[in-house]
Amino acid sequence: MVKMVRIILDSWRIAALMIVLLCTSSWCASGRPQVSPAPPDALSRLVALHLAHQEGKVNAYYSNGLKALALRDQAKIAACATWYSQQLHISLPVTLAVLNKGDWDRIGRLADYPMAEAFPEEGNVIFMPESFASFPGQNTHADLGKKLDFIALHETGHLYQRALNLQGPDLFMQEFFATMMATAYALEFRPELLSNTLNSRTGTKQRYTSFEDMDLIYDGVGFDNYDWLQVETVRLAVIIVKGQHLDELVKRMQAAFPEGHAMSNAEVFHNLEAIRPGVTAQAGELAQPTTLPPIVPGECLSAPGTEEGIGHFGVRNASDHGISVVDDGVPAVLPPGYTAEQGKIGSQFKLPSGKCITYPKTPGYILLN
Ligand SMILES: [Zn+2]
Repeated sequence: MVKMVRIILDSWRIAALMIVLLCTSSWCASGRPQVSPAPPDALSRLVALHLAHQEGKVNAYYSNGLKALALRDQAKIAACATWYSQQLHISLPVTLAVLNKGDWDRIGRLADYPMAEAFPEEGNVIFMPESFASFPGQNTHADLGKKLDFIALHETGHLYQRALNLQGPDLFMQEFFATMMATAYALEFRPELLSNTLNSRTGTKQRYTSFEDMDLIYDGVGFDNYDWLQVETVRLAVIIVKGQHLDELVKRMQAAFPEGHAMSNAEVFHNLEAIRPGVTAQAGELAQPTTLPPIVPGECLSAPGTEEGIGHFGVRNASDHGISVVDDGVPAVLPPGYTAEQGKIGSQFKLPSGKCITYPKTPGYILLN
């Protein structure tokens, strides 16, 4: 991330702060706060570039030289969206942008290239890079084109996820719902995308192996580790989706994970277990508590010594109400559930107790009640 942002579950709306939460779900960045007045949304920013485009069930915009790829992605996403609509009895307008890095950067406020991204609340736009090859941590023996094909299904899933009120109790579940949708489609029509994606990562042992790590610091785990967790999410989705009809599964998920209801990782897996008995054991270390070390807050410094670089820590607010904090001098409210914090290393994050967390070089987490 290039900006210092508080990542907040986009299902939590903090009207008191006048924060407009943008779902920028993707393979994937998450919701980012933005103060009013709102700048142009993602669709407006895309249209303002005056790129070549092709109308269709999915409108497609593309950078110079990417027409063939854009038309291919357009057909793929249109087929997937049509199937979702048929299965789930909802219809969405979908816009696709297939961009090179130059145009990606001109759009602004997107995840770092080539991290694909969907914007359900900003015009239902999916931004796809021209290649996934520069994403760190990829197994070069896998077909990264096929992996990007699966990610396109995942991004389309994010758009429908929002329309289905499947926002999830945490960041891992937001990603899981999108992957669940993609997996349902791929199992039916493109099973080779699943096997390719599952084989796409390196075998390197990762530092962060619990889905709760993803909830707490999200992309603070690092791109390579983040990709590993996303692919593990695909593995979990196959276990849960196989043999189920998507519409029935969505109804069960909507009942098990009602919008706006924060849950711990243990509660999430308790509910998933009811939907697919045995899934917790198959998830293994992913279902275990966070591997992050706990943070002990200290005295606040009047003149903190900040350093270059962005520090990460996670908060789990286990209460049922917002908790007021001051983040590097800026008042904020932590909603119930998980919040991933990012800030300049060394800057101060003041808690209601009057103690402070100093943004660390090595991520940790704190549990608040
Ligand atoms: Zn995603």
